Amino acid sequence: MTRSRAPRPRKDALRKPNGLDHLAVAADAQTHPGQWLHCNDYRTGQAAEHVVRMIRDGRIRSYQPQAAYETYAAHLAGGNAAVWVRYIIGVETKPMPESLWVRVPDYGSQPGYSGVRIRAVEIYPYCPACGGPRGELRNDRFVRDGVHLVRDAWDNACGHRDTYPGVIAEAHRLSTRRAAGDGRKSLRGVPGGRYEAAVNLLARAVEENVRVSAHTAVELLEEAGHKAAAVEVAAFHRVLMGRSNVSARSALLYLNSQDEEALKTGRAGAWVDGPIRPGNHERGRRR
Ligand SMILES: [Zn+2]
Repeated sequence: MTRSRAPRPRKDALRKPNGLDHLAVAADAQTHPGQWLHCNDYRTGQAAEHVVRMIRDGRIRSYQPQAAYETYAAHLAGGNAAVWVRYIIGVETKPMPESLWVRVPDYGSQPGYSGVRIRAVEIYPYCPACGGPRGELRNDRFVRDGVHLVRDAWDNACGHRDTYPGVIAEAHRLSTRRAAGDGRKSLRGVPGGRYEAAVNLLARAVEENVRVSAHTAVELLEEAGHKAAAVEVAAFHRVLMGRSNVSARSALLYLNSQDEEALKTGRAGAWVDGPIRPGNHERGRRR
């Protein structure tokens, strides 16, 4: 066997991956306005993001007029990625959020820990199996050891079912990716955020020593009287238990993301750590 053949040009592979017919995808999207359609799968997130840029700036010419189409790249659980497209003319659409905050039951992983608490975690807005948009969130009430709790539940239109452990693992993936992406940003609290002062304190500690752990961060915050932030970071640390090297830096980014989200949506306090008594979260549903 000889290996004399030159590799196929990369440009062509991207323009028409696996013989994908973008014109057909564009036409299909146009006949289903407002509906997200799977366009193609890629081995890497970078490739998918590149295709998304090419659709957005018109280098892939099938999606015309450009303003009529929206597209996103989904980072999937297996490490590959998918591109999804929709046609938005003539229909009202909600923009695809950058991420979702969901309340999930956390059963902990420490030996002897048998309780459950409700944690808010940030996840992708799309299905980790195929990249299709996740379904609308709804309150899901359940009782554990006689305590009434509320978590978020949703059904994905694609038919793939999310599991809570899967969601917690995804939240970790997302925060790791964020931390890598934010690597060069200077670390500061979100102005006006609940944890601004706490984050600035941690930022100074991290600037002095990058290796400061989340565990140490909890102590520092307690010491300085940032009690709520200390509780948040301790809970964040526990969700990620079993994974080594949870750094103060990622705890800090987590606090910032909480503040950013709270300021953006005004939903601060909508989720609660610990038991939610019936009637507390929503009015008039007690029976
Ligand atoms: Zn799916």
